[in-house]
Amino acid sequence: MTSALYLEDPRLLEFEARVVATRPTDQGMEIVLDRSAFYPEGGGQPADHGDIRGIPVVHVRSDGRTIYHRVSGEIPDAFEGAVVPCRIDASRRRDYQQQHTGQHLLSGAFMQVGPYPTVSVHQGTDYTTIEIETLSIPDADLDQVERRANEAIEADLPVVAQWATEETIGAFPLRRPPKVSGSIRVVRIGDFDCVACGGVHVSRTAEVRLVRLLDVESIRGNTRTIWKIGDRAFAHYREASAVVRELGSALSARPHELAERVGMQEERIRTAELEIRRLNERLHELIAARLLDEARPEQGSGHGRTVITADFAEEPKDLLRGVTERLVREPGVAVCLINRTDERLQWSIGAGPGVPLEFDSIRGELFPVIAARGGGRPPVWQGTGARVEAAPEFLERFRRLAEEVPRVDG
Ligand SMILES: [Zn+2]
Repeated sequence: MTSALYLEDPRLLEFEARVVATRPTDQGMEIVLDRSAFYPEGGGQPADHGDIRGIPVVHVRSDGRTIYHRVSGEIPDAFEGAVVPCRIDASRRRDYQQQHTGQHLLSGAFMQVGPYPTVSVHQGTDYTTIEIETLSIPDADLDQVERRANEAIEADLPVVAQWATEETIGAFPLRRPPKVSGSIRVVRIGDFDCVACGGVHVSRTAEVRLVRLLDVESIRGNTRTIWKIGDRAFAHYREASAVVRELGSALSARPHELAERVGMQEERIRTAELEIRRLNERLHELIAARLLDEARPEQGSGHGRTVITADFAEEPKDLLRGVTERLVREPGVAVCLINRTDERLQWSIGAGPGVPLEFDSIRGELFPVIAARGGGRPPVWQGTGARVEAAPEFLERFRRLAEEVPRVDG
């Protein structure tokens, strides 16, 4: 059985103890000491880290009687029986003492404001969550819970652990019935909160520094509240302030104007996108009209066919499709366009009414010319090609093939 020093003195971070046993487990070696200030994982509070004579302690657990310290290093020979110096990672302990005591204050405040009972808590590496047994909590109540907890911090109340028995426990104003029987450890925060708990806490509430609500979400019919507590709340305040400052200077707005300014920007982007689409459509129409004008005088190839080919460079990706879709509205038009971009080219082929272009039968002759890929459905096909230098030959072959296609009347 290990004597649990953390229960009596939560400020004890360095101590000496005798090694009682060492044992291998699936995850590494475990060390048992005759006494330990290492807090074992439990009650939503993670285990302490630290070292035992320089060997890193990575996890600590308790079976109710014995505390097992899992280490990540080699254990020297003849370690059992030795008296060894032990040290707890102070910043990690401080962080979780703040999280845990802050959670007591918040659970107490939730009962005072609601009553909203706490069903579960989780202390993560980034934030602490408190799940409340209720469908939803009005914003005004959440504000009040946060304010009350911060007032209790400002009042610098003593946090005191006392032992009670099943006979004497009735004298304590417990926030909820104890989950254990026999000898019961009761943790009292002034007259603010009182609950049975085996965790490690700060000694006075001012050490918690600050609690700040981050978010609220619904879960399994309960309400999960997410908190920044202690040093984390100050770090979060600094980060949030920096983000607001950056946004403010980017948008030339003061903090309270930011939301409105972002809304205005979104509206301007929506308007600009509509305008771009309208201008693109107009541009495609004009290019299609010019190509048609240039091609028509050459009519009289025998079929009343208008074959249009054109070679563009560095145009936007949707230009070919836009222009081709306009041209295929014209009866008798067969069109093949190319757009060269960087090391590749884009192609598009279209057949207007009365042009029975069998794409599958011409692709065999056209595709190898530019090492093309792609496809589509009548009346428009498109894709890419790798051989940019062969673009003129591609267009010329298309022209020949398109002029050979017989006219279909009606
Ligand atoms: Zn506690």
